[in-house]
Amino acid sequence: MEIYLLDEAKKILKGFKFAKFRELKNLKDAKDFFDESSSLVLKVLSKQAIHKTEFGFVKVCKKQEEIEEKWFEIISNIQKANIKNYKIIGQEFVDGIELIVGIKRDETFGHLILFGLGGIFVEIIKDYSLRICPITKKDAKEMINEIKAKKILFGYRGKKANLKFIEKFLVKISKLPLKLNVKELDINPLIINEKEGKIVDARIIL
Ligand code: ADP
Ligand code: MG
Repeated sequence: MEIYLLDEAKKILKGFKFAKFRELKNLKDAKDFFDESSSLVLKVLSKQAIHKTEFGFVKVCKKQEEIEEKWFEIISNIQKANIKNYKIIGQEFVDGIELIVGIKRDETFGHLILFGLGGIFVEIIKDYSLRICPITKKDAKEMINEIKAKKILFGYRGKKANLKFIEKFLVKISKLPLKLNVKELDINPLIINEKEGKIVDARIIL
């Protein structure tokens, strides 16, 4: 069993749109990233720390002046976690609604696809729909309509999701098991706004 984090998942999921990111070697790299992307989320990728938030490994920098402080918080949290193999990345901030898209290999049914509202509370809220892979556009529409939180996607408090994008995304990702025997795929979040969606965090187990 091998686990692949965001950077490796991006190579496996060719043809899917990811939020822009790259490895940062030092504070200057972080500041340069902010300057060219107008936003910066610092993250630590390590197979010894899968759920980054729990380790203080996700820091959003809204202003140039706070990058230094956040950078050293990240460094300090790496030391606290006592991990040896890691990579610090800078990622663009993506505005929108957080979704979760998952695939799981099931003994009885084969590969299942899961869709729901994403973020760090999904495991508590448990609002999702499931289908057997691969799915059609009609299935994708149904999956969106089955979740309780669907109204948030249709437009709520100024935020709205590109539903066509979600449908296409679900159909396309549901075909992945046809060419790759995934044990588990966890995209959380896929951040969607009125225009488009971008994968912000992904983990694959093969
Ligand atoms: P993990 O799930 O490993 O804790 P994530 O990369 O999913 O780490 O980040 C945790 C949360 O931080 C996300 O669910 C999201 O709310 C926020 N976040 C992370 N990266 C971004 C980003 N690039 N743009 C907007 N929000 C982000
Ligand atoms: Mg995540």
